[in-house]
Formats: sequence, C-alpha cells, structure tokens
Amino acid sequence: MDQALAEKLNQSLNFEFYSAYKYFAMATYFYEINLKGFGKYMFKQAKEEMSHARKLYEELLLRNQKITLSNVEATDSTWINTQNVFEEALAHEKQVSQHYHHFYEHAGNVNDHALKLFLEWFITEQVEEEATFNEMLEAVKAAQGCSCGIAQLDRHLLASAE
Ligand code: MG
Repeated sequence: MDQALAEKLNQSLNFEFYSAYKYFAMATYFYEINLKGFGKYMFKQAKEEMSHARKLYEELLLRNQKITLSNVEATDSTWINTQNVFEEALAHEKQVSQHYHHFYEHAGNVNDHALKLFLEWFITEQVEEEATFNEMLEAVKAAQGCSCGIAQLDRHLLASAE
C-alpha cells in the first residue's frame, strides 16, 4: 500500500477518535448544565465516531499496515449555549467531510481502487452526519425562540431510543 495513504488512514483513525472526544466533551457540557437529553444525544454521537474509528482500524489490519495510536487532542470546551455547541458540531462534520473528500482524491491519484471503495462509505456517512447536525441546529434555534423550548427538546431527546 502507498505509504502516504497508510499514513492518511492512521490520521483518519486519530481524527475519528478526536470527533468522539469532542462529542464526549459536548456531552459533559450538557450534563453540567443539566440537559441530560442533549448529553445522551452527544454520547450516542461519540459512540458512532468510535465505530468509525473501528472501521479504519480494521482496514489497516486488513491491509497489513502499521497502526499508530497517537495523542488525541482535547477540545476547547468553552461553549456559551446549546446553539453554539451544535454550530461547532456541524462545522466540525463539514471539516471531516472535506478530509474524506481529499483522501478519496488521493486514493484515486495512486489508483488504489479498493481504498476508494472503502472510503465511499465514509463519504456517504458524512452526508448523513451533516444532515443530522443541521437538523438539530435548526431545532435548537426554533426552541430558543419560545420559553421552555430547550427544556422541552431535552425531555424529548431523553425519552428517545438509543
Ligand atoms: Mg465520523
């Protein structure tokens, strides 16, 4: 396997852990301000990111490449409100999408067709991720407009299935 591609797979692995870490931090923020539904929602997102990391890990194993577990950067967790958290989450997912688009192009440049196919799953998943956070951001914006809106949305998230 092209070494730059293997390195990028390892970088992606770290990036997915970083996403998970970010969403754990966001969950913590919500628990601290007693929004347990939002906390639960963010935990679910973090868990999803861990499953993405697992996919990359397994691809590295399958392709017989060295796996490097490097430091995961901490997130600056100074959010001012719920809307601010979802704005950051959406911006982050857009960055992740960009990452996979560039990675896909790179795999194409060196004719690694198998890796391109592997990465297509991530590219499709990112469309979902962006849509999910966009939907949440819009719901939060709408909820902020009326009294108790955020609390209501929080109860709804707390009651929703895993
Ligand atoms: Mg992900």
